[in-house]
Amino acid sequence: MTIEFADDAQDLIDGYRRFRASRYREARDLFSRLRDGQQPATMIIACADSRADPAMIFDAAPGELFTVRNVAALVPPYEEGGGLHGVSAALEFAVTALKVKQIVVMGHGGCGGIAASIAAAADRPVGQFIAPWVELAADARDAVLRNETIPRGDWQEAVEHGAVGQSLKNLMSFPFVRAAFERGQLSLDGAWFSIGKGELHWRDADTGAFTVVTADDPQLDQDNKI
Ligand SMILES: [Zn+2]
Repeated sequence: MTIEFADDAQDLIDGYRRFRASRYREARDLFSRLRDGQQPATMIIACADSRADPAMIFDAAPGELFTVRNVAALVPPYEEGGGLHGVSAALEFAVTALKVKQIVVMGHGGCGGIAASIAAAADRPVGQFIAPWVELAADARDAVLRNETIPRGDWQEAVEHGAVGQSLKNLMSFPFVRAAFERGQLSLDGAWFSIGKGELHWRDADTGAFTVVTADDPQLDQDNKI
């Protein structure tokens, strides 16, 4: 099956009209109630990648997820002073104003940002803005590249997993995140989405290992039997 992806304004307007006729109609009352404000209890930090959409993967309603998406789902460490810190500003709002109860960092398979980070380690050019940004994953990347038990073919996924751990560590460098976590008002978790299989993997906070989340999938089970 060939999917015709939107590539001009008319395609997007057509999509909007489908939304009004279907999902908006179903969620009309909810949208109306959300007019005066949002009260999400979950913040998701995910990649900008078009294939790993948190709202779809977590089957979320409008108003349910406060989401930041950037290249490779990275969180910078806390820094004193001003500057154009988009992720840090969203984090501050989520934790101190919205008082979210959980933050989940979700990486994914085949991440171009992580591939760029690995390319940068081999001195390959990766872009004016991408290069310094993906250096946020440098510690996780270097730990994988130095580990001789990890074959080259597994580097990409291992760095994708490691970068989630790095972002979780950086989250804790923000005083307001640490304070909410230590008061027991905020939990931090990591996840990774396998695009080809549509599988979510959840990170064990103690070991850093990722395990596939089981899901009822009767149709898929039936297909596998044939
Ligand atoms: Zn990505």
